[in-house]
Amino acid sequence: MKRHRVVAFAFLLLMLRTGTVPSITAQSTQTMAIKCGRLINPVDGSVTPNAIIITRGERIEQVGAGLSIPSGTKVIDLSAYTVLPGLIDCHTHTLLQPEDERGAPPVITKSQAFRTVQGVAAAKRDLEAGFTTMRDLDSEGAGFADVAIRDGINQGIIPGPRLLVSTYALTITGGHMNNAGLNPDIQIPEPATLTDSREAMITEIRREVKYGADWIKLYATGTLRHVDPVTLESLSQVSLEDVKAVVAEAARWRRDVAAHAYGGEGAKNAIRGGVRSIEHGMLMDDEALKLLVTHGTYWCPTLSVYLPESAEDDTEMRRRIVAHHKEVFQKAMKLGVKICFGTDVGAFEHGTSAREFVKMVEYGMKPIDAIRSATIRAAELLRMEKQIGRLEAGKLADIIAVQGDPLGDIKALTQVTFVMKGGKVYRSPF
Ligand SMILES: [Zn+2]
Repeated sequence: MKRHRVVAFAFLLLMLRTGTVPSITAQSTQTMAIKCGRLINPVDGSVTPNAIIITRGERIEQVGAGLSIPSGTKVIDLSAYTVLPGLIDCHTHTLLQPEDERGAPPVITKSQAFRTVQGVAAAKRDLEAGFTTMRDLDSEGAGFADVAIRDGINQGIIPGPRLLVSTYALTITGGHMNNAGLNPDIQIPEPATLTDSREAMITEIRREVKYGADWIKLYATGTLRHVDPVTLESLSQVSLEDVKAVVAEAARWRRDVAAHAYGGEGAKNAIRGGVRSIEHGMLMDDEALKLLVTHGTYWCPTLSVYLPESAEDDTEMRRRIVAHHKEVFQKAMKLGVKICFGTDVGAFEHGTSAREFVKMVEYGMKPIDAIRSATIRAAELLRMEKQIGRLEAGKLADIIAVQGDPLGDIKALTQVTFVMKGGKVYRSPF
C-alpha cells in the first residue's frame, strides 16, 4: 500500500515537472482590441493619440495608430484614458502588512495560515493598483507562503501580479530580521534564516531554490536600529568573499541575488561581489554610487517607505536619513545609475505602491524616467525584457490605463482604472 503511494507520488512529481498536469485555466485565444485615448511608450517616450492594441490570448498581437479592428473582435474602449504597460514593483512583501511594522513581528503574533490569507488579499490589491509583475523580497518568516501565492496566481486560482519570490532571506545572528529584545531562553522562529558561515549560506540557498525561490535575498547590512546615530554607518553583515560565494551558488541555480544594503562596507561588498540589485541604499557614499555604475548594478531606492509616518518615527535621526536618501537619489540620477522602481509595499498599505512615483518626481526625476524605472528598466532587472515592460507585438498583454496625463501629473498613476494581465482583464471602469 505504502509503495503504491510512493509510486503515485513520484508519478505526480513527474507530471508536474513535465508540465502534463492540465492548467486550471485553459489557454484563451480570444482576440481583443483596446482603443487607447493616448498611449505612452516608455521606450522612446512618445505619446500616440488614438492608438489601438490588438491582443490574442495572453499576448499583444499588434500596436499602432489607425489599425483596423477585425469584425467580431471584442472592443475595450479606453478612448478617455491614457494607456501604459503594466507596472513592475521590484521590491515588495506580499506577506507583510502595515500593522506588522508596529509592535511584535508577525512571526510571533500571527499564524502562517492567517498571513497567507492576508497575502492573498494583498496580491489582489496590488494587481488592481496596476502592478502586473512584482518581485517579492522576503516572506519575513511566512515560510514558503510566497511560493504558494505565486503558484495560486499562475494557476488562475487567485488574482494577483506575476510574482517572482525569494522565500526566506539570508541574515546573520543579531543582524537584520532577527527578533530583537526577547527572552533568549524561549525558542522562537526568526523572520529570516541565520546563516553565520559561508557553508550555511550555500546550504540555505539550495533549500530555498529546492522549495521554489526565484530570487535570493541577502541582508548585506543591518536595519535602522543598527545604524550608528552619530556617523550613520550601517552594520556590515557580509564580507566580499561571503557575497561572492552567495552569488556563485545562486548563479549555479540560475538565480540572481538582491541585497538589502543601506551603505558602508556592506553595500560595497555586495556590489563588488556581484549582486544584481541593491535595495534601499540611502546611506551610500560617492564611492558606492560609482561602484553601482561600474558594475552595472541596479538600485531600488524605496524612497517613500523611510518617510516618518507618525510622531514617534519623526526623530532627528530619521530626518537625517531621509535627507541623505534624497541626496543619494539625486546623485545617482546624475551618474546614470540604473534606478528601478521598488517600494517595500507591505510595510505600508498594499495597493498604494504608486506613491513612490510621486516621491521620485518630487526629488527631480522626469515622469517618463519614473515610468521607465517601473517598466523597461524593471523588466531588465528581472531578466524579463523579452516578455514584459513594453507594449509591442509578441509581449505579454500587461496593460493599464489611468485618467489624466501621468507625464504632466505623475499622481495620475495612483488612480489606475483599467488593468489587464496576460490578456485577462482584472479591473475595468466599465
Ligand atoms: Zn523590504
